[in-house]
Amino acid sequence: MEGCVMATIDELRKEPHWSYSALNTYLNICQAQYFYRYVEQAEVERTSVCFPFGKAFHAALTAQAWECMMGNSLRQDELVERFSEAFRIEAEATPNLIYKEGENFDTIIDLATKMLDAALANWTDYYTIKGVAQAFKVDVPGLDKPLIGEYDLIVQDGRDVCIVDWKTSASRWSAGKADRDLQATVFSYAYEKQNGTAPLFRFDVITKTKNPGCESHYTSRGFHDFRRFEALANRAQDAINKGVFLPNETSYACSECPYRDRCRQWHLKKWR
Ligand code: SF4
Repeated sequence: MEGCVMATIDELRKEPHWSYSALNTYLNICQAQYFYRYVEQAEVERTSVCFPFGKAFHAALTAQAWECMMGNSLRQDELVERFSEAFRIEAEATPNLIYKEGENFDTIIDLATKMLDAALANWTDYYTIKGVAQAFKVDVPGLDKPLIGEYDLIVQDGRDVCIVDWKTSASRWSAGKADRDLQATVFSYAYEKQNGTAPLFRFDVITKTKNPGCESHYTSRGFHDFRRFEALANRAQDAINKGVFLPNETSYACSECPYRDRCRQWHLKKWR
């Protein structure tokens, strides 16, 4: 779809759609959480600071990518300024924001500064950027709504086109994690649908550790990954339409779940 004027992700979100986030929540995190967020659209009880942090970090790196695309680059202090401004706006707009013990606005800015240093030290995308924050919308056979999403960055990597996704993570990614990740599958699937060829995929993972680091994890997807994704998405849609929403009570997501109190009453609800 290079060369076409695409809608923004905010415009695409206004119409009924499937997203990687929704499918991943249902398939890999917790069906009950999916129900509260996407079906019931229940009020959020609490929001971990991780969410506005991640959004603000993306905003800072997106600003850097736009600058690089125009032949410039942001200084470290400018990058921190972009983060601080975005985090302040996100934090103010987030209801029931919860900081971890010992964290506050200032410690978040300190941590982000170190992480942005790590991201800049690893940054190689100065002359290769083909697209920034590019939204997509594709049809998946059998799904009743289109699949939408947004590529953080598209770069030329040698002879390949490579989709880049920035991740902030509490710890380093293990070997093989990128090869199993559903987002790489969904985004490569969409790119292949739009362009007729599967891209390379790169996760740039910046750790939120005491001494943050940034590592690039490459992966790719092919025919069988795409057919398996179509089958999974269709089976998820069937189960959702039938009202199957089981809690995943050993999920890592329980500790920061925005619907924890509601979930305690899950077994008392009348399910059809
Ligand atoms: S508390 Fe755990 S089981 Fe309950 S909805 Fe949230 S993630 Fe799912």
